[in-house]
Amino acid sequence: MKRLPPTGLSEEALFAQLEAYAADDLDWRAGRTFGYIYDAGRQVEGVAKRAFTRFLTENALDPTVYPSLLRIENDLLAVALSHLQAPEGAVGTFTSGGTESILLAVLSARTLARARGVTAPEMILPVTAHAAFHKAARYLDVTPVLVPVDPRTFKPEPAAMEAAITPNTALLVLSAPSYGHGVVDPVAEVAAVAEARGLPLHVDACVGGWLLPYFRRLGSPVPAFDFSLPGVTSISMDFHKYGYAPKGASVVCFRDKALRAAAYFACAQWTGYTVINTAVQSSRGGGPLAACWATVNYLGDEGYLEIARQMRDATQRLAQGIEAIDGLYLMASPEFCMFSFTSDTIHLYHLIDEMRQRQWYIQPQFGIHGHASNIHLSVHKGNVQFVEAFLADLAECAEIVRGLPTPDLMSTLAPLLGSLQGGLTPEVFAQLLGAMGLEGAALPERMAPINGLLELLPPELKEEALIAFLNELFVPAE
Ligand SMILES: *Cc1c(COP(=O)(O)O)cnc(C)c1O
Repeated sequence: MKRLPPTGLSEEALFAQLEAYAADDLDWRAGRTFGYIYDAGRQVEGVAKRAFTRFLTENALDPTVYPSLLRIENDLLAVALSHLQAPEGAVGTFTSGGTESILLAVLSARTLARARGVTAPEMILPVTAHAAFHKAARYLDVTPVLVPVDPRTFKPEPAAMEAAITPNTALLVLSAPSYGHGVVDPVAEVAAVAEARGLPLHVDACVGGWLLPYFRRLGSPVPAFDFSLPGVTSISMDFHKYGYAPKGASVVCFRDKALRAAAYFACAQWTGYTVINTAVQSSRGGGPLAACWATVNYLGDEGYLEIARQMRDATQRLAQGIEAIDGLYLMASPEFCMFSFTSDTIHLYHLIDEMRQRQWYIQPQFGIHGHASNIHLSVHKGNVQFVEAFLADLAECAEIVRGLPTPDLMSTLAPLLGSLQGGLTPEVFAQLLGAMGLEGAALPERMAPINGLLELLPPELKEEALIAFLNELFVPAE
């Protein structure tokens, strides 16, 4: 097992080592990554870095000690709230990301439901709602009640959302847009239901909340999704996605202070300092706050409008280009700069691998609830100038994949499925890895066999297998 060096390394030596570690990372600067990365260019990155390092060491734990960070956060909240057409009295909390924002929104709803006497709280989620809600459900012991979506629009029926309401309902959830398919849920209709029933409605605008208003200004038909609808009680919105701020930057906004206070935490019951927290994190670096503040103020309103224009045009071109490739089709018509496509004739995971060999990163999404497996693209500014190159490679790779044999994975998996019924013991997991052509946790060059087998596993087993895999991946370095 690795140990600390007896004497410290020189700065050169340790940076050399870090660079060596980074050698196999995705080369996101090359604009070939359609997911995980949101890159607005070197200048924006430089400004954010400078602001980040200026507040690298400050701690947002105590707003009375660092009034700078309090001011930065309040500036960002004002910007976010006015962007979301929030009424007088609306407030928010800066968090480390969409997941933390969502945890706090669910916590607020659960706290208030309990205060109303609900002991087994439920949360109504379209199947397209982000996994972070399932995480919040498990962490906070709220039961998710899933609502199907239309197979063509990928949106839930408002009537189906309403029909799922019970006396235990603590929260309704919609997305604007959902990550997987990039469509905006019918927020106005469900907001009217929520308001009439006196139930909170959270709109997950993590990925799209920031740019959607710009898309609207450019003429795209973006429906109302924000606080302009009285039934919307909270909204999550990430700055570290299409706000182009470095990671660690999101906000959760509440219609009023009572909703927010239900997600605050104070503790005066131990021997140390009294703890008061607005978010899940307690000690909190000033870097993400300052870098986010610098990014939004550097780009400004016109900067974002121009970015949105580029995103919209690139997405339209990509969508057209993909539909023009024989065998590929879009799952829903894109309402934002993200969408998914699928095929009945071209093996998707081979296509992903072929593209990966040409340094393109595109994301597999497994079929579930009757919806087909597919490939997802999130388009960011860094991709814009590579759209034609991407389409040319995609068309070529589709031709190559057409000629590849489709592996018969079911026959590989069939003998294993019996033993899988008994749960994923270490022995069965080892067999499963073997079937995927894996030894230990090292990833092979081609992911198609792994994705293909995972696709065949039921969701619960998929989760178990992935947890077992992660458990192997994070081990002390040799
Ligand atoms: C990314 C995303 C989240 C989760 O955000 P993280 O920042 O990854 O924690 C939640 N909802 C949607 C719609 C997202 O796109």
